[in-house]
Amino acid sequence: MKVVLASSNQGKIKEFQKILNDVGMNITPQEEFFVQAADETGLTFVENAILKARHASIQTKLPAIADDSGLQVDFLKGAPGIYSARFAGDKASDEENNNYLLERLTRVPNSLRTARYQAVIVFLKHYADPKPIICEAQWEGHIATDHRGGGGFGYDPLFIPLGQTLSAAEMRIDEKNKVSHRGRALSKLVDYLANSQSMLC
Ligand code: IMP
Repeated sequence: MKVVLASSNQGKIKEFQKILNDVGMNITPQEEFFVQAADETGLTFVENAILKARHASIQTKLPAIADDSGLQVDFLKGAPGIYSARFAGDKASDEENNNYLLERLTRVPNSLRTARYQAVIVFLKHYADPKPIICEAQWEGHIATDHRGGGGFGYDPLFIPLGQTLSAAEMRIDEKNKVSHRGRALSKLVDYLANSQSMLC
């Protein structure tokens, strides 16, 4: 079955393709159908993931997978959360967001720099699917005091997973996928789809 991936984020697309290709699922990023990014007007990860999946499914008439994810920093009372991609401004780059985060945490000691990534993944069989499949996972860690590593995307150069010394940007993509919020949420979805009687009911 052909499925559209409702994301234009190249970092996410790489991670999705690695996991889903390994289980034989063929996904096509929405940009290959000339689908523009949906407006993320929801107030929760779940709402935004559904908005994105529905938007891509309407445009392509295909089943859709979407992910809405973000970083929650305890010292910032859960910010940037659903606004992670636009923390430093509407069209902010990853580097600008990272620098802004470091600025907001200036002189905050390590013990108070705890944070987690959240991922919500939604699968819609069709745009009006009244029963979306929703899978979620978290990845605990803390925010470093400077950038480390050249892999990953987003806040990965600043995110040190719990119990590790390397940043997420210093991990190989397959290592990150095994333990990350997105990797584990996606594994739940894959298991669900593999075990459900019929995806097309
Ligand atoms: P979304 O497209 O609204 O879901 O934006 C998610 C944003 O959260 C990304 O642009 C990143 O800033 C951040 N984010 C989510 N997952 C990750 C990750 O695995 N690594 C680094 N940053 C992430």
